[in-house]
Amino acid sequence: MLSSVSDSMQRFLIATRNSHKTEEIRSMLGAVYEVIDLNAEECSHFPEVAETGTTFLENATLKAVEISKLTEGIILSDDSGLEVDALGGEPGVYSSRYAGKDGDNEANNAKLMNELGKLDANTLRSARFRCVMVLAQAGEVLAYFDGSVEGSIISELTGDGGFGYDPLFVPDGYDQTFAQLGEEIKNTLSHRANALKKVVQYLNK
Ligand code: IMP
Repeated sequence: MLSSVSDSMQRFLIATRNSHKTEEIRSMLGAVYEVIDLNAEECSHFPEVAETGTTFLENATLKAVEISKLTEGIILSDDSGLEVDALGGEPGVYSSRYAGKDGDNEANNAKLMNELGKLDANTLRSARFRCVMVLAQAGEVLAYFDGSVEGSIISELTGDGGFGYDPLFVPDGYDQTFAQLGEEIKNTLSHRANALKKVVQYLNK
């Protein structure tokens, strides 16, 4: 059985199978919480939660609430994505399946470069990552939090680190992509870091 965050083990189940998200959350929560996700053996029988919402909050809520009905303890979900101003906020809530297949980062990045390539060369490439995190227990939402980071989209994949759109996203104030800056710097300024700081403040209240 999973222990809740108030237990001495302070164990957290993240309602995701995206191990990149889990790794970032694990590294940001440090030694204080033991972080596992739906890839854990004990969760292997949990069904996929369909992301049928049209906002980050709706999808984060669906994931946290549905998983919290299946196990004890507090569940944390993360729904996140990239909003590009010149594309009217796309890919937004559909970031992981922008090119069709869920989680196909290569195709998603190719589509993003292609869509931006169709625009006038002077078009602003401003964008932001957004993240909504929901805490739920026994089928009820306890609280939700959001975080974002502003930046711009470059025209070529640059850098090997991170995941998703990281090789195309340069955060404001830097001249390298998240994929170049590496996890340590990304985790001080990312959308996920900003949401998670609020989660920790809430849990320590
Ligand atoms: P979700 O699993 O429905 O929340 O979709 C998240 C998608 O948004 C990922 O598959 C990526 O395409 C994108 N995304 C979210 N956070 C990040 C990030 O930190 N770096 C790069 N891409 C991200």
